Amino acid sequence: MIESLLIANRGEIACRIIRTARKLGIRTVAVYSDADAHALHVRMADEAVAIGPAPARESYLVGDRIIAAAKETGAEAIHPGYGFLSENADFAEAVTAAGIVWVGPKPSSIRAMGLKDAAKKLMQEAGVPTTPGYLGEDQRPEHLKAEADTIGYPVLIKAVAGGGGKGMRKVEASADFLDALASCQREAASSFGDDRVLIEKYILSPRHIEVQVFGDEHGNVVHLFERDCSLQRRHQKVIEEAPAPGMDEATREAVCGAAVKAAKAVDYVGAGTIEFIADASEGLRADRIWFMEMNTRLQVEHPVTESITGQDLVEWQLRVASGEALPKRQDELAIDGWAMEARIYAEDPAKGFLPSIGPLTIYRGWDDVRVDSGVEEGGQVTPFYDPMIAKLIAHEATREAAAEVLAEACAATDIWPVRTNAPFLWRALDHEDFRAARIDTGFIERHGDSLLPPAEPTEDMVLQAAAAIAVQEAHGEPTMVDAVDGSLLGKPERGSVWRSLMGFRANAGADRRIRVEIDGKPYEAELPRDWEKAPVIGEPVDDGVVVNDDGLSFLASVPRYHGDTAGISDGALTAPMPGRVVSVEVAKGDKVAKGQRIVVIEAMKMEQALIAPFDGIVAELGPQAGAQVSEGTLLARIEPEG
Ligand code: ADP
Repeated sequence: MIESLLIANRGEIACRIIRTARKLGIRTVAVYSDADAHALHVRMADEAVAIGPAPARESYLVGDRIIAAAKETGAEAIHPGYGFLSENADFAEAVTAAGIVWVGPKPSSIRAMGLKDAAKKLMQEAGVPTTPGYLGEDQRPEHLKAEADTIGYPVLIKAVAGGGGKGMRKVEASADFLDALASCQREAASSFGDDRVLIEKYILSPRHIEVQVFGDEHGNVVHLFERDCSLQRRHQKVIEEAPAPGMDEATREAVCGAAVKAAKAVDYVGAGTIEFIADASEGLRADRIWFMEMNTRLQVEHPVTESITGQDLVEWQLRVASGEALPKRQDELAIDGWAMEARIYAEDPAKGFLPSIGPLTIYRGWDDVRVDSGVEEGGQVTPFYDPMIAKLIAHEATREAAAEVLAEACAATDIWPVRTNAPFLWRALDHEDFRAARIDTGFIERHGDSLLPPAEPTEDMVLQAAAAIAVQEAHGEPTMVDAVDGSLLGKPERGSVWRSLMGFRANAGADRRIRVEIDGKPYEAELPRDWEKAPVIGEPVDDGVVVNDDGLSFLASVPRYHGDTAGISDGALTAPMPGRVVSVEVAKGDKVAKGQRIVVIEAMKMEQALIAPFDGIVAELGPQAGAQVSEGTLLARIEPEG
């Protein structure tokens, strides 16, 4: 067994590999860019080597520096993780040439699977079913069109050198073919320097089914069953599960058998995945599942396979790389229960899934699931790398239970102020079509807006926000309060749970309207007469309380000024709640500008500035600094000029 390992990666996969290496007593070496100097994987490893500036092409993608780091630290082997250099055959060769063990397949296997047409031909020769289509040498447009006409529309034109969803065109009808071909060839030439294409029948109701395979240097190849990765957003996997819903034993045997054949055809050593596309318009059928491509590395979604098989695939990789035989024979592997994984991305669903960067002031919330995380509370999300920060994996006896546990974990995800896709994941996992396994790769596009969190806070969120800040005011610290009589129930175990009608009473004015700021914007709602006993989960931070609503975390704070529209426009600034005047920052008769601080008061250990609602003159001032004031006390009045 190897005794030391350099991990040529970062984030959750680096941490994941380090955990297994440690379990096996292997010394670990991390590499890191300047942006990752304080990252979790660096602190987890026994040793760490700086390899360059933040951009990946100047650090994590510089093979020479990584090999130098391995030599410098005496690391015996290199694990590439996924992404970065993991499918780079030249790098794999350079590692081996430097006398270092490469934890991955032979460079020749990586190359054989690199081009889509060559890989498909190889699979056809091995007797593995491939998507119906044309792979020929003859690339004349009229010939390609004739082939497409024979296949039948719709068809998909794919660049043979394509990847990452680029260089693909769906064509609906013969009349559109030549234009689509020209545009696909242009994109392929500029993106991949190779304008050759292949044509495939466009599969309707497509499901993405993939099979985990493993080979060793002694000629053994096994499969570890299938995964279903049909829930994708723009060809990016979002939720994965194993086994695949609706897969019967005969179909499984056919698909997994084909995958083993495919792996044997390229003399495969280590962890790999054979991806298939299935026409699921009539359920999963063995004669409607076709080879798509092979990924010659460990996949992001490998934990669902680990869960249902009880195996540690990183341990398998390290054993195989050390020259050992596969830990299990095919007949020793079986499926136990159901596993489901959700990928947590630092991105904002309300803003078109734009990446969200910044500090992780709050980062917690999970029970009952495996969490593979690359960050921790107090850490940072930087703009340099993939925004995936964690994976949540549920493993239960049935699909229903796994979906329920994973949905709950997504709803409990409390991350702030970085935004995440957790509220979107929760909605997808909670969707009745998902629960009924009515899934295909178009699911997310089809259900679009219904999976997005609300753009504006709902009335319920306003109530939760108001309850959270009111109870914090009443008790000064995270406290659990009975919803009905307001009695203290003691400290909650994790975070803070408030249930409060009493809180509303403290917040609401005589008009029964409660006012609160959410993420800095004012909202109000009517005090409900019988709000149901829903828990409000909140975490106190410097400028308010962070409340979590089904995976959506937001900042609740006391309004900076009190009053309805009429109250604001008449320029009266009143105390939003009982408190103490900290400072009066203007004198009577002063000219003030809209937004200027007039009075600061302290309530619930938080200072709030009351600001001028418009340009004007200070016409009246209330109590001086140091005074205790009750809610509604007039603190200042601004009059418009002239
Ligand atoms: P890339 O290498 O660019 O990722 P793939 O060939 O792996 O491209 O295909 C990416 C995705 O496109 C698949 O996961 C599937 O959703 C869709 N796709 C690919 N081939 C077909 C097809 N023949 N019919 C319908 N959808 C397809």
